[in-house]
Amino acid sequence: MHEMSYAIRLVNMALDAAKQNNLENVDAVTVEVGQMTGVLPHLLSEAYQSASKSTILEGSKLDIIKANVTALCNDCSSTYEPNADNDYRCPTCKSLNSKIIKGRDVSLISIIDYENI
Ligand SMILES: [Zn+2]
Repeated sequence: MHEMSYAIRLVNMALDAAKQNNLENVDAVTVEVGQMTGVLPHLLSEAYQSASKSTILEGSKLDIIKANVTALCNDCSSTYEPNADNDYRCPTCKSLNSKIIKGRDVSLISIIDYENI
């Protein structure tokens, strides 16, 4: 399952972040899931529950934010959402010379320990 590899990475990222912040318990984890990852939120939640078992993340709430794909135009430096409406071209200069800067990864936004706010 594709989601499991993301869930394992996510658990590792959250455990690292907890360690850096000296948290002994984590109640909620927020992640951003890019549209291009093809990750389905409910499957990611399920995978997260099993991947976090026996860690301080066990039982924590996973909040998933969907991130749209954002591209940066290499020709005019505008950022835009490539889609079928704009033919995946930069709406400002019509260039196709762009790179995806957001939307193709799963990233950790925050971890929360309610006792430590
Ligand atoms: Zn452009």
